[in-house]
Order: sequence, then structure tokens, then C-alpha cells
Amino acid sequence: MVHAVPCTDYSPQSCETALNALADTLDWVRPGMTVGIKANLVHAAAPEAAATTHPALLKALTRMLHQRGARVIIGDSPGGLYTAAYLQRVYHLCGLEDTGAELNLDVSIAQASYPEGKVLKSFPCTGWLNQCDAIINFCKLKTHGMMAMTGAVKNLFGTIPGTIKPEFHFRFPEPMDFADMLVDLQLYWKPRLHLADAVMIMEGNGPTAGTPHFLGLVLASRNPFDLDQVCARLMGLKPEQIPTQQAALARGLVQTPDFPEELLPYCQKDLKLPPAKSTLFRSLLPGKAGVLAGKAIAELISPRPTLVPERCIGCGKCSSLCPAHAIEMKDKKPRIRRRQCIRCFCCQEFCPKGALEAQRPPIARILTH
Ligand code: SF4
Ligand code: SF4
Repeated sequence: MVHAVPCTDYSPQSCETALNALADTLDWVRPGMTVGIKANLVHAAAPEAAATTHPALLKALTRMLHQRGARVIIGDSPGGLYTAAYLQRVYHLCGLEDTGAELNLDVSIAQASYPEGKVLKSFPCTGWLNQCDAIINFCKLKTHGMMAMTGAVKNLFGTIPGTIKPEFHFRFPEPMDFADMLVDLQLYWKPRLHLADAVMIMEGNGPTAGTPHFLGLVLASRNPFDLDQVCARLMGLKPEQIPTQQAALARGLVQTPDFPEELLPYCQKDLKLPPAKSTLFRSLLPGKAGVLAGKAIAELISPRPTLVPERCIGCGKCSSLCPAHAIEMKDKKPRIRRRQCIRCFCCQEFCPKGALEAQRPPIARILTH
């Protein structure tokens, strides 16, 4: 079941009213519990950029948890460095110092064992969550170059230390494998509650360089797959466009597939979405050779990171972050070796100037017009 309440802005009063309306979803909180809030703190950005979970909502939630006698820790592992100094910078720029919660500075890396996982049976993870009795997954609703959207399911990728994330992209280069990995992470951590900050969402070049867009909701669910399903529909996305939804549906994890009718007025019709992978050629040719040919054509016309040269400042961050070492800096501009690129979109996600966009090549735009 998914609960949704209107929230017109990030004023303290609006945020408190919205979260108070969701108070029943906190009925499991007991005095003395340590609750870890896994926020979306993808990078050091001001709250107005709509890239991170808004501090006013985190503050209102912290207050409610304190009222119930819980200790509250907020944390995440952004992309890149995983050091206390970098975390402090992120907390400062994301406006979290006034939330009333402890801000995690434990950068230990633990080893998780999950033999039941479909693709993730053992993995390194952020150690701070192990001291928590319960986790609340408080995501930010945004577009995403690789996964179409980021909501509850994608948010737990932040439990993989930033320095190790590129290895995961290399280990799971196909979107469906990556999605199965994210589903495994959900089933491993089992957050008690999932909340979505969908007051201001991000459209376009998400998850870090897109444009803020008003939606006006805060959503809650015990089931992250149900929550993402509703969020996707609100954004105008279909489940087949979202690898994590496909992975969850294949495993029977979506429990309430019906969209709440009262949310229909909130559904966005013209949100700028990332280009989808085309499936146009998959079934045109018969037999195994046809499948291979279809796959090759699909690869050729799939979205790829594309430079917008006038925005690039030549900092080289994309090159140093690329897990496939596919980016070479030449004359202070990145050159992407297409054959090496695994289309993880890390470069697009972490470019500080939004100079890389997920775009389909011109031939794809013509063929799929
Ligand atoms: S990270 Fe962005 S700004 Fe920096 S070199 Fe790469 S494309 Fe240019
Ligand atoms: S060039 Fe960008 S999308 Fe391609 S592998 Fe490197 S970081 Fe990923």
C-alpha cells in the first residue's frame, strides 16, 4: 500500500503537516531504538537543486522520531570519496546541520553476506547502518540516465561505499543485472519504511543536473517496489521503461499494482524524461541470428553520454570516475571511447556542470521518430 499526502512547499509548517499525516507509518518505532535515515545525498548540492532529500522533511521526520524516543542518524555515501571530511562538506551544502539528527561520520566498510541474493551474495557496504535497529529509506524522486528514474529502490545504492560504486557498474554493466543487484540490496537491508520526497522532483538531465519541477507530494510505503510503481506513474513513466520495476515484477515483489485514483491529478504529462532504450528492432528478425542482430542494432541506437562542449570546464572528473576507463582528456575536453563505454552514466551523474547528457545518437532519433 502506498500513502501520499500533499505538501505545497518546504516550509517547516508544510513539512510537519505532511509528515504528521503519515504518522501511522511510524507505529513500529520504540523508545531507545536507533533509527538510520538513508537519505539521498548524491552529491554536495543546495536543497534548491532538487538533487537531494530536502532537509526540511528530514528535520520534521527527525522530530517525530525523537518524540517517540528514538535516536536518529542521517547518512548516505555519495558518489566519489567516502571520507568523514567529504561527508561533512556534503551535509553542509545539503543543509542538514539543522535537522536535529546525528549526521553519520562513520566511514567504515563492512562485508555483507547474502546467500539468498539473486546476483549479490556477498558485498562491501557502508558500516554505519549496522549500528541501526531500523532503517528508513528517504529517497528523492528524480530522472536517471541509466535507470530512467531514481526513487526508493535505486536509493539504496548509497549503501555501497562511493569509492566502490564504479566496481559495481563494471560488475553489472547491463541495466537488468544492475536492477537485480538493486533489488537484492532492498531485500538485504529491508528498511522498515520508504518515504519519497516528491515535493520538488527533478526532470531532464537527472539525477544531478536536471531541472527542479513541482509535484507537491510526500509518499510513504512499507514496500519500495509499490512506492516506485506509483512514483513512476506520477512521472509519466511505464514499468517497462524502468529496469528496477521489471526486476521487481519478475520476482513478484510488486504487491499493490493498482494506481490510487486520487493521485491522478498529480500525474505529469510532459515531464522531460531521459531517452529510453529502443526495443524496436528486437523482434523484427526471426531466429538466434535475428536476436543477435536486434541486440547489435539496439546497442547502436541506445542512449549514450554526450558532451555539451560549451558547459564543460575541463575538470577531468568524468575521466577519473569512469569505471571502464573509457574517457580520455584531450585539449581539456573528454573524449569517450564508445567501444569501451558500458553506459553506466556515472560521468553524466557526477559532472559538476551538467556537461554530459544521456542522448540517443542522431540515427536513433531518425529511426524511432
Ligand atoms: S566532468 Fe564535466 S566539466 Fe569536467 S571534464 Fe568532464 S564533462 Fe567536462
Ligand atoms: S564513459 Fe561514462 S557512461 Fe561510459 S563507462 Fe565511462 S562513466 Fe560510464
